[in-house]
Amino acid sequence: MGKAISGRTLQTFNPATGEVLSNVAEGDQADIDAAVKAARAAFDHGPWRKLTASERGRMIWKLADLLEQHATEFATLESLDNGKPLAVARAADVPLAVDLLRYMAGWTTKIEGNTIPISVPYTPDARYHAFTLREPVGVVGQVIPWNFPLLMAVWKIGPALAAGCTLILKPAEQTPLTAIRLGELIQEVGFPEGVVNIVTGFGETAGAALANHPLVDKIAFTGSTEVGKLIVHAATGNLKKVTLELGGKSPNVVMEDADLDVAIPGAASAIFFNHGQCCCAGSRLYVHKSRFDQVIEGISNVAKEIYVGPGWEPGTQLGPLVSEEQLSRVKGYIDAGLVEGACAVTGGKQIGNKGYFVEPTVLINTHKNMKVVREEIFGPVVTAMPYTELDELVDQANDSSYGLAAGIWTNNLAKAHSLAAAMRAGTVWVNCYNIFDAALPFGGYKESGWGREMGHNAVDAYTETKSVCMKVA
Ligand code: ADP
Repeated sequence: MGKAISGRTLQTFNPATGEVLSNVAEGDQADIDAAVKAARAAFDHGPWRKLTASERGRMIWKLADLLEQHATEFATLESLDNGKPLAVARAADVPLAVDLLRYMAGWTTKIEGNTIPISVPYTPDARYHAFTLREPVGVVGQVIPWNFPLLMAVWKIGPALAAGCTLILKPAEQTPLTAIRLGELIQEVGFPEGVVNIVTGFGETAGAALANHPLVDKIAFTGSTEVGKLIVHAATGNLKKVTLELGGKSPNVVMEDADLDVAIPGAASAIFFNHGQCCCAGSRLYVHKSRFDQVIEGISNVAKEIYVGPGWEPGTQLGPLVSEEQLSRVKGYIDAGLVEGACAVTGGKQIGNKGYFVEPTVLINTHKNMKVVREEIFGPVVTAMPYTELDELVDQANDSSYGLAAGIWTNNLAKAHSLAAAMRAGTVWVNCYNIFDAALPFGGYKESGWGREMGHNAVDAYTETKSVCMKVA
């Protein structure tokens, strides 16, 4: 790990204890400027652009292999830094990251343009050979959050490298450790100098400098909608391209014909997985009124049985929230809900006073105008509401400024299809939730973002289309 130009460091904390875990470089505007210049030089003049697509793919594949070889080490670092259970990081975060890199390695040789028959009306006798090239967009700034630190880094780095871009990645200040270690593996693979630059630092300084930088061609951001809007403003300076993966307040619908043995644990996991610190968490639960009591009782029982503890304890199912700031934010939301008349069927309180632990919480007696129903809590808190008519349900489910994900639990195929089509959300899960795959695009409608991560959509978002028109007769 290098030093910041200023020599300053920032502390990262162990969220299970509140103690300092490590000190990392506090990069700021000067470090971002140096990194951008290195990425610019690597893109404009370095050997990177001269590699064949196959060579580029092999390097990305090699990074996947190295990550896989160090899977337990990465899971351990992630668990310590973010708080999530080690077993979850080992089973989900790291393998998904490895798989994404392999998927993107395969794309390098498949980024193709088209040949286009053109018929120019004002040159009727001429003949042309016209085609498109897909070229890398250039130097890319990437700013990521703390909820899936390694996975978010790879979601960003993978398609950028596949397309042939050079990049500057700024991890979240709360969770920089796996990105730093990934940087070492990137060096081990032997990517040419300046292709990947990782700068740790705060959002207001390093992140903002990256979004503002005139030599950056594109900024890709994952984080809060509030900061996403700041990124958009910052990008106007040189009109850099922008993709955003932002917040959510996703509806999760249990219909009257749902199989409750599946829907109850499914809906519980939709909100409690990763301690609710998922932008797509199923945080607004709508249950048909005929099944409401049964579903609420079931989810509350699941919540009560979840073992909340430090990530390194083998029995831990849920870890702490990531930071003191998130702890007070989540507690603030729960209190606001209770003041507005919601009732906690289970949970509602902090656990202990060491570390940032919160009880999995189920709120009922909520209505659509409450803060807890409208705003993203980013904690293990679900609001549950009964519904009667399907039309009214669709309106309520879509009554949000967000549109990231939605869940539907039903055994009725026709209803599943019609409801999936009616949801204004980038991902709809039916009889499952939080299912991710490198090939499946993920991103938001409305204020949940611009563009998609993963799938070929992500690769496209790191390319420009160039039309070449050649007169041949
Ligand atoms: P959260 O509120 O959940 O921490 P943020 O959206 O604030 O989420 O943070 C996500 C990422 O955005 C982090 O890497 C953070 O450092 C960065 N960030 C925060 N503020 C800014 C900003 N003004 N400009 C650019 N990046 C920022």
